[in-house]
Amino acid sequence: MDDTIAAIATPLGEGGIHIVRISGKNAWPIASKLFRAAPPQATDSIPPLKATFGHIVDPETQRVLDEVLLIRFEAPRSYTCEDVVEIHGHGGAFVAARILQSVLDAGARLAQPGEFTRRAFLNGRLDLTQAEAVADLIHAASDKALASAVSQLQGKLSETLNGLYDRLLAVLSQLEAAIDFPEEGLEFERKQAMAGQVRAVQKEIDQLIATFRAGRIYREGWNVALVGKPNVGKSSLLNALLKEDRAIVTPHPGTTRDVLEERVRIRDLHLNIVDTAGIRHQPEEIEEEGIRRTRRALEKADLALVVLDASSPLDGNDTLLLDEVKGKPCFLLLNKSDRPAQLDIQTLAQKFPGEAPLNISATTGAGLDTLVDRLYTRMLEGVPSGEGAVITRERHRAALANATEALANVVNSLDGDLSEDLVAVDLNTALEHLGGLLGKTFVEDLLDQIFDDFCIGK
Ligand code: GDP
Ligand code: ZN
Repeated sequence: MDDTIAAIATPLGEGGIHIVRISGKNAWPIASKLFRAAPPQATDSIPPLKATFGHIVDPETQRVLDEVLLIRFEAPRSYTCEDVVEIHGHGGAFVAARILQSVLDAGARLAQPGEFTRRAFLNGRLDLTQAEAVADLIHAASDKALASAVSQLQGKLSETLNGLYDRLLAVLSQLEAAIDFPEEGLEFERKQAMAGQVRAVQKEIDQLIATFRAGRIYREGWNVALVGKPNVGKSSLLNALLKEDRAIVTPHPGTTRDVLEERVRIRDLHLNIVDTAGIRHQPEEIEEEGIRRTRRALEKADLALVVLDASSPLDGNDTLLLDEVKGKPCFLLLNKSDRPAQLDIQTLAQKFPGEAPLNISATTGAGLDTLVDRLYTRMLEGVPSGEGAVITRERHRAALANATEALANVVNSLDGDLSEDLVAVDLNTALEHLGGLLGKTFVEDLLDQIFDDFCIGK
């Protein structure tokens, strides 16, 4: 962390402005080599946290590269807690790269993905769950995703975890006192009281683990597979849902060789819908191929939207498909309900007992509101509506599960009146898991994993 890093902090391409960010001990000396305030002003009189107008010049040729606003941040009052300089220039990819090159030539090193946030974490400005929340905020695709990331960034989860951590630490210090002064060994009543305290923490951890379902839905949305034989209207349905979404952001292109994935927001949540038949639509497509793709899509799906054509009778392909989705979470959709019905509901109900099918029309939009209602309700089934801390990642869930497992041993040993040393070992294990979750202790590999998910410049 001794060196000074720099990167373009805005997306590459053309836009209104771009920002080159520099962080580290030499941020200001490096920027000073390139920046000329206008009207002229001595570099050491440029105030922090104020935008100063000026030019970036090539130090060799003195040629002006861009007209910019510069903001200087003094450690520790910056994103990274280091000295930081932001150069706000015009939004062209070449000019941004050119300024960055001059900054690098003047002594900075190109930042790794997420390195600014990594420094913020290493300098103690954010804990690990807050650093993760920065990535979540950037990737947020719905209001719930955004709200959950903001709450985590502001420290809601950290606060809860730190509270639990401190309570366990208090129990540990009682134990350690008893270990240091064995003549005053703990009475059984004291151990019982400690077991009670640990149980209370354990209960709260279990409640936190139970929020993972909600947290995952907020952060990642639901994976939905659109399945059905060719020509039943899968792509039309996907387009109709996208239209309802009226997305304010450009669609997320996830097209791969034979699968099309689209993000669709429903109210404050979002779905990742995979259209299995994807790009190829030949009706003569061999059945096995269709089934193979369907199977693969179903593996990763939280829910399948099974599309049938209501305007033609059930055939062998439909039956194959219905066998395939049997027992999996799915909604049965009878599309083309704007046309005369040919599909025999009775036969369908016999072949596929369970949830009543929903009549829709991708063309007229009939039934889509009901479909969205049902999807929304199903997603939030069993999710408490409270505003409490929520965990959002498998990393959180695993660490909490490990902690509560160690705490179960602690309680057992206390109840069984086992030695204090034994209890302390398990209690330490639980503390390590909670501490690791917050980043109090960490291994480089974990940091690499977390920060690799970031873009360069964040
Ligand atoms: P996919 O192969 O399952 O993706 O089916 P498509 O979405 O490509 O639709 C196949 C054909 O059915 C197209 O000609 C659509 O215009 C038509 N279609 C799709 N949905 C409806 C609907 O709700 N009503 C009617 N009448 N036609 C539809
Ligand atoms: Zn299609």
